[in-house]
Amino acid sequence: MAATIIDGKQVSSDIRAEVAQDTARFKEQHGVTPGLAVVLVGEDPASQVYVRNKENACAEVGFNSFKFALPGETGEEELLKLVDELNDRADVHGILVQLPLPEQIDSNKVLYGINPDKDVDGFHPVNVGRLVIGETIFPPCTPAGIMELLKRSGTGFTGANAVIVGRSNIVGKPVALLLLAENCTVTICHSRTKDLPSVTRDADILVAAVGVPKMITGDMVGEGATVIDVGVNRTDEGLVGDVDFAAASEKARAITPVPGGVGPMTIAMLMRNTLRAAELSLPV
Ligand code: NDP
Repeated sequence: MAATIIDGKQVSSDIRAEVAQDTARFKEQHGVTPGLAVVLVGEDPASQVYVRNKENACAEVGFNSFKFALPGETGEEELLKLVDELNDRADVHGILVQLPLPEQIDSNKVLYGINPDKDVDGFHPVNVGRLVIGETIFPPCTPAGIMELLKRSGTGFTGANAVIVGRSNIVGKPVALLLLAENCTVTICHSRTKDLPSVTRDADILVAAVGVPKMITGDMVGEGATVIDVGVNRTDEGLVGDVDFAAASEKARAITPVPGGVGPMTIAMLMRNTLRAAELSLPV
């Protein structure tokens, strides 16, 4: 039977509508408007699009957004100074520094300079630590989006075999921790994994975050699995994921398409994290 297609655009839109409602209530109760500062260094066209999308999403859910566009030759000290100023601003609840940064800037130094309570991307070591010990405040946005897609497509977690292909700090590792927190039995695969197909075939939940077009072939997917394709690969065929969608759909219970699956979720989860940051900023 053909798989159910998990519609990330729809889920993202539902979540943004929920955040908009919660934000309206929050503003009414506390007289505070959540604010997200987005810092862009240089003129990378893709980054400019991402930043514009974030500004639009902020407007949609009722946040203030503050954009700081700095020239490509900006130095590390100057950027760290701006981050410090944003850390101190009461009207800024979330800070996002758009990656990649130019090579003269040490990205980690900048990301670690963000106040962890405003780190809505969830990349600061304090927030990574919170994730590891199961006290997550700001789950990284793409992994959090994957969890929402799984939850809202009726995927069972407890005892499920979850296999993640890819071990990056922004996708593979955090999604593994989130699945573990939901009582899945988690396996993380990478480029040195032996006999990858035999591992992926056992997955009830299969997450592909590799960056290799269509590397998860139909024979690597078990009958009835839920398949989440995080990959975004530009090829001659256009945008394709890490999963051979047509072949995997023959086996899977449910599957995300590319585009229109995980991609739209990231921004929705950023909005949710920013509202959370504003809630946490209230005096106790
Ligand atoms: P990275 O390049 O940081 O990590 C890729 C991972 O895949 C590594 O752990 C690597 O293993 C593993 N890998 C590479 N080749 C193989 C192989 N042949 N077999 C098994 N494992 C392999 O990628 P990211 O996690 O940053 O991104 C993954 C994909 O997700 C990309 O296509 C990216 O564009 C996309 N993405 C999409 C987002 C969205 O919002 N939709 C957000 C972020 C990423 P090793 O560690 O051993 O090298």
